Amino acid sequence: MNSVTDIFGSMVFNDSVMRARLPKDVFRQVQRSMNDGKRLDSAAAEIVANAMKDWAIEKGATHFTHWFQPMTGITAEKHDSFIAPVDGGKVIMEFSGKELIQGEPDASSLPSGGLRATFEARGYTTWDPTSYAFIKDRVLCIPTAFCSYGGEALDKKTPLLRSMEAINREGVRVLKLFGNADVSSVRTTVGPEQEYFLVDRSVYDRRKDLQYTGRTLFGARPPKGQELDDHYFGTIKPRVQEFMKELDEELWKLGVMAKTEHNETAPAQHELAPIYTTTNIAADHNQLTMELMQRIARKHGMVCLLHEKPFAGVNGSGKHNNWSITTNTGVNLFEPGETPAENAQFLLFLCAVIQAVDDYQDMLRICVASAGNDCRLGGAEAPPAVVSIFVGEELEAILDAIESGTPYGGREKEQFKIGVHVLPKFPKDSTDRNRTSPFAFTGNKFEFRMLGSSQSISGPNVVLNTAVAESLRQYADRLEAAGDFDAALHELIREVIHKHRRVIFNGNGYDAAWLEEAEARGLSNFPATPDCVPLYIAPKNVELFARHKVYSEAELRARYEIKLDSYCKVVRIEALTMLDMLWKDILPAISAFTGALAESANAKRAMLPVDVSYESATIQKLCDLAASAAIHGRALEKAMEGVKTRPDTLAAARYYCDRVLPAMESLRAVVDEAETRCAARCWPYPSYGEILQSVK
Ligand code: ADP
Ligand code: MG
Repeated sequence: MNSVTDIFGSMVFNDSVMRARLPKDVFRQVQRSMNDGKRLDSAAAEIVANAMKDWAIEKGATHFTHWFQPMTGITAEKHDSFIAPVDGGKVIMEFSGKELIQGEPDASSLPSGGLRATFEARGYTTWDPTSYAFIKDRVLCIPTAFCSYGGEALDKKTPLLRSMEAINREGVRVLKLFGNADVSSVRTTVGPEQEYFLVDRSVYDRRKDLQYTGRTLFGARPPKGQELDDHYFGTIKPRVQEFMKELDEELWKLGVMAKTEHNETAPAQHELAPIYTTTNIAADHNQLTMELMQRIARKHGMVCLLHEKPFAGVNGSGKHNNWSITTNTGVNLFEPGETPAENAQFLLFLCAVIQAVDDYQDMLRICVASAGNDCRLGGAEAPPAVVSIFVGEELEAILDAIESGTPYGGREKEQFKIGVHVLPKFPKDSTDRNRTSPFAFTGNKFEFRMLGSSQSISGPNVVLNTAVAESLRQYADRLEAAGDFDAALHELIREVIHKHRRVIFNGNGYDAAWLEEAEARGLSNFPATPDCVPLYIAPKNVELFARHKVYSEAELRARYEIKLDSYCKVVRIEALTMLDMLWKDILPAISAFTGALAESANAKRAMLPVDVSYESATIQKLCDLAASAAIHGRALEKAMEGVKTRPDTLAAARYYCDRVLPAMESLRAVVDEAETRCAARCWPYPSYGEILQSVK
């Protein structure tokens, strides 16, 4: 077995491979294009393509693909082999600079939200040189952006790159004002912690709901769930360990820095966290992580569930997006500094985030909204659907002291002055304890915890980067025009704290009292996807993204349409799956079981005057429940009929939320009760207990 350092990045066309295989001047050109986004000239592209091909063939690759991330949230690829015909019926292996830089996968069936008219349906992929090419399954994968003929982004990568550019531009403006002459760029970094479930293939194959929808639509609660907290950080089972080992190795080969793995709260739930990296690369890597988790689980006879809420009554899965901003000189801007000047800068960047979270609460909620995540947000396990920010008590006390100009209790009762005082050290522990906050400052980074486990991290980071870029833009405008920088800075920070104080909340986000308080503070609360998505295209949001050239209005509208459309599709598939399970499996099973009970009771009674009250009571109860389930099934069908008359996607989504989901809930309640009365061997599906304990 090779050592980890040998296999790490072995399938990646990274800097060291490029340095070894490219002429010096071409290598420098690639570096420049990675750092400043300058396009490679065609001669250089030709040389890079050739070197990439030779390297890939040596590693066993036969095909290449432009690897991209359409608005479905998963990745797409279309493989082309390297072969080109030559005389004599032979082939050679070829890969041109043009093929490297641009592709035309067509891909007209991918969602475009109306951005592509059918007469110009082609989509184009363009190389993202900031994310290394890699080999997966003998295919050379080239990370690319995906756009329409008119240049509109049809993917998740393009807006992410644009948002990184926006925060870079505005961040550097602000840093210059603080005298950071050596800073020429900033980039955001992300470390996404990924939660998932592993179940045995044999139980998965017997559950239509898991197969069609990724979650269980029926299922009575098991006698033992996660009450004892005996799974969290518990010993990892050997089979799971084998899986994690292979997953780590495969991820390492692709240059993904998989770092920590542990059991999570729910039975069968686990988590993987990588070491953080530049945001667009972190996004690519998270997509690869999710893909490999699913593939490798299959190899080990298991299935990896990435759904946000596979099991009712059991903790769901999220993704914690750890985010910060780093300068090209290696400084993390959210690291409270050692000197007063550094701290003034830290406080301004902190303010930029607080303001962004307050001004764009709606967008932060929207970017994590999906039918799957709706099952989880607001439950007593995941952050509430209200967006607030946790900063910890020490920092809050300082912000309060700055705002009110009153003495700060921690330090000799003198007034805390920006640019004069050194901030006290915040021990990481004291900032990280509150796990109930949707958005937490954790010492030197922010952790956005509302993301669903299955979603791409691109959308949330687009919102974060752009919203913070907007705060920074406003600050730069104001401070650049100020005469006395220190006085203007102090006043600005004071104002921002005063205006956005309401979004800071350090208490228990799971507490029902918080929802009331949040309302009193004027914070928005959007429990479900159709509640928040209309604000996607609110004028203030259209303006934000247009100003920073992240989404045009048309691009934003496309995403609005797609979000609503996929919400409708998901709920529709779930409802149809429930009905299929009800009519074809569940009711026949109840009928068969009660029939058998009746026969056996009759036979026993014909023989002896025995007490068959168990049989009679069970038949009675189950027949009642079956009749009720059938009524609820018909009600659900009727609710589904009503969808057709909705005038548009928003109305349809609203209707699915208000009418179809409650009908599904009522049906489920009846069926779950029946499951508790029916003989295990007669129930058509593995129970929660069996599924959650299926991986031994
Ligand atoms: P936990 O949140 O479980 O306590 P850590 O705080 O150590 O764990 O880290 C969680 C994730 O945050 C990891 O993926 C880590 O790489 C990432 N992280 C740490 N520092 C930064 C940073 N400056 N920017 C972005 N992500 C970071
Ligand atoms: Mg964390």
